[in-house]
Amino acid sequence: MGYGAVTEKIILELAEIAGASHVWTTEEKREACSRDETTTLRPEERFMPDVVVAPSSAREVSEILQTANKYKIPVTPRGGGTGLSGGALALRGGIVISDERLNRIIEIDEENMAVVTEPGVITSEINAAAAEKGLAYTGYPMSVLSCHIGGNVAENAGGGNAVKYGVTMRYVLGLEVVLPTGEILTLGGKLMKDVSGYSLKELFVGSEGTLGYVTKIILRLQPLMRNRAALLALFADTAGAIAAVPRMMARGGLIPSSIEYIDAYCYVKACEFLNEELPTEGVGAVLLVEVDGSDQDALDNDIERAGELLKAGGASEIYVADTRFTRERIWAVRRNIDEALRVTDPVQTDEDIVVPISKIPDIARGLKEMERRFGVRAANFGHAGDGNLHPTFLKPTDMMMERWQSVETEIEWELFRMTAELGGVISGEHGIGSKRKKYFAELCPRENLELMKKIKKALDPNNIMNPGKIFDL
Ligand SMILES: Cc1cc2nc3c(=O)[nH]c(=O)nc-3n(C[C@H](O)[C@H](O)[C@H](O)COP(=O)(O)OP(=O)(O)OC[C@H]3O[C@@H](n4cnc5c(N)ncnc54)[C@H](O)[C@@H]3O)c2cc1C
Repeated sequence: MGYGAVTEKIILELAEIAGASHVWTTEEKREACSRDETTTLRPEERFMPDVVVAPSSAREVSEILQTANKYKIPVTPRGGGTGLSGGALALRGGIVISDERLNRIIEIDEENMAVVTEPGVITSEINAAAAEKGLAYTGYPMSVLSCHIGGNVAENAGGGNAVKYGVTMRYVLGLEVVLPTGEILTLGGKLMKDVSGYSLKELFVGSEGTLGYVTKIILRLQPLMRNRAALLALFADTAGAIAAVPRMMARGGLIPSSIEYIDAYCYVKACEFLNEELPTEGVGAVLLVEVDGSDQDALDNDIERAGELLKAGGASEIYVADTRFTRERIWAVRRNIDEALRVTDPVQTDEDIVVPISKIPDIARGLKEMERRFGVRAANFGHAGDGNLHPTFLKPTDMMMERWQSVETEIEWELFRMTAELGGVISGEHGIGSKRKKYFAELCPRENLELMKKIKKALDPNNIMNPGKIFDL
C-alpha cells in the first residue's frame, strides 16, 4: 500500500492536537527514535520517522490516529526503545507516537490489589510505588529499569519470575486502547474474572503495537514477598543441569520464583565482565535458582530443599545467597550476560526460542553442532524454568564480515527449524517485530497467519499501525 507524505499541513494538525512543543521534526529527536536494542541492527542503521509526537491523553492519541488514518500515514508507537525485535522502528517513516508524556501512575488501589497506570511509566517505578504499600508487580522483564509498562503490554513481556508468577498477560486486568481509526476502547477493569464476550483485552496484549495504541493499563498486584534467597548451582554439563529442573518442580514439589540457565561461555564472560571471582574451572552449565516467600522459616525450608534437590541432581557446588548483597552479586552474573557478550563479541544475533523444558539439552546439542558447521560461537542462556532460551550467535573476530552476513540467515533458519521440530516456537517473549517476520511467515501455521491478517485488516483497514511488524500485508 502507498502511504501519504507527512506534509507541513499534517505537522500543523499534530501541533494543534498535542501542542507545538510536543511535536518534533528535528534530526536529534527523530534520530533518538530511530533504533531499538535489536542486536542485528548495524551500528549505522537508522529508521528515521518524519515526525515525533508526544500526546498527553487518550483523546489526543485518538485525534492523532484519526489524522494519520485520514492521510494514510504510518504510525509507530514507542516506549522505552529496549525492544529486541525491531518493534519500535519506524520502517516506513511517518509518525512516531512517543509515550513520554503518558507517564503517570494514576492509582495504587490497595483494596483491589491493582495499579492503574499510563503506558510511559518505567516498569521498575511501578514496583517501587507498589512496594510502599506492601505490594508487588511480578510480571516484569529483566529490562525492568529501562523498559516501559506499555512496551511490556505490547510485547507480552516475560522475565526471570515467569516460572512461578507468569508473564505480563497474567496481570493485565484492564486496558484503554485507541484503535487506528480513532475509537477509544475500555476493556476489562479491576476485575479478577471476566467472561463477558470475546477476550478483546487479551487480543491487544502481545500485539506489538499493530492493532492499537495502549493509553491506560490496570495491572493486578501481589503481596510483596519480603524474603528471598538465590542459589547458584554449578554443573558439569547442560544435560545434568536441565535434568535438575523437573527433579525440583515435578518430583520435588518446589516451584522456585526463578530457574535461570547459563552455559559455560556466558557464565565465564559475565564473571570476567564483572570481575567476579566465582569458580569457573570445570563448569559446563549453571543454574540460578531463586526461592521467595513471606515466612522466613518456610523460606529456610525451601532453600534447604532446593539445595538438596540440586545436589542430588548432580550439582558439584552450590552457593547460597541469602542477603540482599550476595543475592545481587549472583543475579548480576545473569543480568550482565547481554552486556558482557556485547563487549567481547559485538557482532551477534540473539534469539528467543521456547521449547518444552525437557528439550533444552537437545537445543544445547544442536547449538554445538551448529558451531562446528558454521564456524561461529553459539552462546546460550535463558529461563530454564519455562523453556525460553536466548541462543546468541557470535561472529568470531577472524571471520570476514561478508562471510558472517552470508551465514547469519542460514544459522537462524537452522535454529528455528530445530526449534519447531522439538515442538517449540521462535519467540517466547521478545516478539516477532521486523526481525523475525520472514521466519514467522514460513513457520506459523498458514491458517493462523491468515486469521491474524484478517483481524489486522478489520481493526486497521489502512494498515497505518506499526506496518511491517509481525507480518506484511
Ligand atoms: C538488556 C535487556 C534485557 C531484556 N530482558 C527482557 C526480558 O527478560 N523479557 C522480555 O520479555 N524482554 C526483555 N527485553 C526486551 C524489551 O525490554 C521488552 O520487549 C520490553 O517489553 C520493551 O519495552 P519498551 O518500553 O522498551 O518498548 P519499545 O521497544 O519502545 O517497543 C516495543 C513494542 O511495543 C510497542 N509499543 C510501545 N508502547 C506502546 C503503546 N503504548 N501502545 C501500543 N504499542 C506500544 C512498540 O510499537 C513496539 O512494537 C530485554 C531488553 C534488553 C535490552
